[in-house]
Amino acid sequence: MTDPHDYLAAKSRQYTCGSCGWTGLGGDLAVIEAFAELAEYGCPRCDSKVAVLAFPLRSEIEAAADRGDKAAWSMLRRAADADAHAARVKASRERPLQLPDPTEGHGVHASLELEQQANHDAMLVLLVNGVEVRREVAAFESTEPAHRLLQALKDHYGNDLLSFDPWPATLYLLGDRLNGASELEKMVADLPQRDGGRR
Ligand SMILES: [Zn+2]
Repeated sequence: MTDPHDYLAAKSRQYTCGSCGWTGLGGDLAVIEAFAELAEYGCPRCDSKVAVLAFPLRSEIEAAADRGDKAAWSMLRRAADADAHAARVKASRERPLQLPDPTEGHGVHASLELEQQANHDAMLVLLVNGVEVRREVAAFESTEPAHRLLQALKDHYGNDLLSFDPWPATLYLLGDRLNGASELEKMVADLPQRDGGRR
């Protein structure tokens, strides 16, 4: 059951779940967990692991799509969507950051918010003293924007930067990463008011 098979070949192969006895086609299995080059597929009835399948190469997917394989078409479409999203993330991160000028002696509180709308990219929005100064396309499980934007705030405001609150964006910054919270706590540990006390 753990021999890596090509997913495209496996989807029309018969599988039986060792736990509950479900029998069906590989195409009906559900992805339990995906890794870089393979994924674990589970029983659609009880979620037990049924197969470990290697992802096909892009060239194999394209060849299957040329033969009219519907699963291959949807894989190509998802890959194209992911590539386009990655390009939007990169472009939005590379735009020059412009922060409002510091006002002598006035403390600066910053936060990173998450804005989600149906059919739109989720956005990370940087607020400085409650005013939006930056938005970037959010990428799942990436704390890079929090580190980079905090450093830019420190460079710009120096000791006037009192707090930085990354928690509103946790869903995207951390995703399923269990150890991520301590990373965010550490990130703001040297600010006078840390995360501003929101958490
Ligand atoms: Zn089962």
